[in-house]
Amino acid sequence: MTRRFPLSSCALVVAALLSAPAFATEQKNYSASEQAIAIAKETIIVDGHIDVPYRVKEKWVDVTKATEGGDFDYPRAVKGGLNAPFMSIYVPASLDNSPESTQLAHELIDSVEAIVARAPDKFAIAKSPSEVKAQFEKGLISLPMGMENGSPLQGDLANLEAFYERGIRYITLAHSQANHISDSSYDLRRKWKGLSPFGKTLVTEMNNIGIMLDISHVSDDAFYQVIELTKVPVIASHSSLRRFTPGFERNMNDEMIKKLGENGGVVMINFGSSFVSKQAGQWRTGLTNAKKALIEKEGEDSPKLANFEEEYRKTVPYPYSTLDEVLDHIDHVVELVGIEHVGIGSDYDGVGDSLPIGLKDVASFPNLVQGLLDRDYTRADIEKILSGNVLRVWQQVETYAASH
Ligand SMILES: [Zn+2]
Repeated sequence: MTRRFPLSSCALVVAALLSAPAFATEQKNYSASEQAIAIAKETIIVDGHIDVPYRVKEKWVDVTKATEGGDFDYPRAVKGGLNAPFMSIYVPASLDNSPESTQLAHELIDSVEAIVARAPDKFAIAKSPSEVKAQFEKGLISLPMGMENGSPLQGDLANLEAFYERGIRYITLAHSQANHISDSSYDLRRKWKGLSPFGKTLVTEMNNIGIMLDISHVSDDAFYQVIELTKVPVIASHSSLRRFTPGFERNMNDEMIKKLGENGGVVMINFGSSFVSKQAGQWRTGLTNAKKALIEKEGEDSPKLANFEEEYRKTVPYPYSTLDEVLDHIDHVVELVGIEHVGIGSDYDGVGDSLPIGLKDVASFPNLVQGLLDRDYTRADIEKILSGNVLRVWQQVETYAASH
């Protein structure tokens, strides 16, 4: 989820962007061969982060049937061969210091349970890797859950236990602002210089109870502190590589990827264009600055603010990234630390109209498989990327907790 994306305010970027040549996005037609479609169907596909619960909260739709908008629904998931999308229990940073964050997390979990209750012949909650595998055999789509933002814990380990009982199997420690657990990559105040004292305790408690640590969104210092403290591998549920988006701390740099590799963890690549290519990030900065300029000129009540992004897109077309660029991120992780440490964390339903050409919704996974085949990944490698790696980490976390 990146809707509350704070942006820098360098007016120069607008000028640079407006004078830059138009983005020549290659209109390559991505399509999948029979072989790629078969691999997508026969392999378990786990996606680290899909924002269905918040989408449904904002505008209710029945995702057990075909839906008009959005990136996920049952028919498209079946078409794409998606088997276990982690449902993001996303709590906005605006609720960080309020017990309402705990309430909202429970309500979002209720909404995932409601999806399953409405269509038990299609979906099932999954609380373990073995449930994901068993439900795959039965032809059910698993809905494991991860909590995006640790604020619902409100510093109380009883909440950790309650959320574990309800099925939360990873927690993204912070979102767009420092919370009571950790600093955030988007929040330059660096309140804790990494993790808070409670955050440091929480790492051990999450290891002991069997909830994966998700280091997406946290600051670099917080990442390194988590790696020092954890006894088991961690995940980045939806992050890409900073190498391709210089200066964007929300993505991971090479040094962090190497640490993650030593830890045995997995970075699950985010598809959102601003995570994949620097042009998309620059475009968003340009949008923000243009909006600020309008507010300065015409005030907060300007009618032009209502459809501002839509109008801006007409003047400055959005520079969508491409499936090929997403594959470059996967390749680079493999080059740095090997095939065992990369997965998929699309951020479908969380990044609005910013998805790459060739990966527009959950029906697109066969295109991804095709791209991997074209780059000479073996079937065994592809299986690791699609689910093997993250299921391995999840199993390690579960096994460790069982002995503690
Ligand atoms: Zn997010």
